[in-house]
Amino acid sequence: MSPIAERQLYIYNSLSGLKEIFNPINNNKVGMYVCGPTVYNNVHLGNCRTFISFDIIFRYLKHLGYKVRYVRNITDAGHLENDADEGEDRIAKKARIEEIEPMEVVQKYTVDFHKTLAKFNTLPPSIEPTATGHIVEQIELVKQILDAGFAYEVEGSVYFDVLKFNESSTYGKLSGRKLEDMIHNTRETSGQSEKRNPQDFALWKKAQPEHIMRWPSPWGNGFPGWHLECTAMSTKYLGKQFDIHGGGMDLKFPHHECEIAQGEAVSNCSPANYWVHANMLTLNGKKMAKSTGNNILPDEIFSGENEIMERPFSPTVTRFFMLQAHYRSVLDFSNDAMLASEKGFSKLMQGLSLLDTLDTAKETTGFDLAEWRKKCYNAMNDDFNTPILIANLFDAVKFAQYVNDGRKSITKEDLNALQTTLHNFVYDVLGLTKEEQEGDHYLEDALQLLIELRNDARKRKDFATSDKIRDELSKAGIVLQDGPQETTFTLK
Ligand code: AMP
Ligand code: ZN
Repeated sequence: MSPIAERQLYIYNSLSGLKEIFNPINNNKVGMYVCGPTVYNNVHLGNCRTFISFDIIFRYLKHLGYKVRYVRNITDAGHLENDADEGEDRIAKKARIEEIEPMEVVQKYTVDFHKTLAKFNTLPPSIEPTATGHIVEQIELVKQILDAGFAYEVEGSVYFDVLKFNESSTYGKLSGRKLEDMIHNTRETSGQSEKRNPQDFALWKKAQPEHIMRWPSPWGNGFPGWHLECTAMSTKYLGKQFDIHGGGMDLKFPHHECEIAQGEAVSNCSPANYWVHANMLTLNGKKMAKSTGNNILPDEIFSGENEIMERPFSPTVTRFFMLQAHYRSVLDFSNDAMLASEKGFSKLMQGLSLLDTLDTAKETTGFDLAEWRKKCYNAMNDDFNTPILIANLFDAVKFAQYVNDGRKSITKEDLNALQTTLHNFVYDVLGLTKEEQEGDHYLEDALQLLIELRNDARKRKDFATSDKIRDELSKAGIVLQDGPQETTFTLK
């Protein structure tokens, strides 16, 4: 669909530290794996930022005409409290506290995750596999790593031998950490651990009697290590080597480093060609995180029920706020930043509406449409630079205002082309939605007027009129509720 020039996409590869030309393995097809959530809690806005960042990448690749298989997993077992293979399973712990089945925890928070991402208008992935649904594949992978000589078994657990791996490859190449430094900086565990070296990581863990999430394996009853599921599922659905692997910046180490080691151990090739990492959303300058409580939930923003915001903000404004920063930059969340984004978003939407009303002329003056379009693509082709794209979209809005003022003019043909390009970028690529916005305020005002007219009628004892208003609104799906102070309405 798009000319080839629009396809000169550059992606920043965390593995090389460089922006590289994107060349997929299979011409027009792209395989992308993104680490999904651990479903033991409601997703906070920080998590959402990472998934929105990859939604943009998914949308833009599709826009360029690629056939994308986007795999994003659900971690529903194996992620322990501590990333270094220690502590309780996060889901099992929540199940114990809430006195429910682990799978009830998984169900509850998977539903929350889907609902929340849908509010942000993110597209569903092509495949969303779960760790518990791929235990067989994970056990098979452990066997292969053992056969290749990169793992060892101790007392029903299997560990990846990092030092052995480092003899033929480099452990730490993604995160830039050196194994010698890691060894040097690790305190002696003086034989407390069954690992040969503290840097080794669990592929399979023996389940202690109190561990309820357990499966039979050749090494006894146990459960998979956290890093294993992503290698097993990415291999199953995308192959041993695929195009893009993504996740939040905090997953680089140890999670992605371990995935690379597992993949290379069995297939002698790096699992993904482009490693893409989205940067963190912060609150009060600190990373939003479930564990520290320094976070805000999306529903708290949409309802306004929180201590940070003066009032509610819609999902699409929140999405716009995120897209005004590049995905590799840290972004701080605040009331002021949201107010500014709301203003910007409404200006963009007004600009789009204005285009529908413009008069056309014999020639276009003061705007090079082809050049502008190129700039929009250049921005996205430069490692998905949404803030630059948005700045370009505002240039078009400014031009539309000049045409409206009579200071500039546009031909019918150019106007159509401008509208099409703007719609493509705003709705398809950035995934913004028109939202309730202005229209809804008008409707709400009209409804308030009807409520006042009904109350006046009741005061006059004109019940025929007051009942008519109530019944007709009810037929239209709007239910009035008379409280002691005021009349409110709900939608059926
Ligand atoms: P988790 O459920 O903790 O595994 O996290 C799911 C995703 O959210 C991972 O890709 C994390 O890297 C990402 N993430 C966690 N905290 C933040 C944050 N504050 N900002 C952006 N992404 C985050
Ligand atoms: Zn993963």
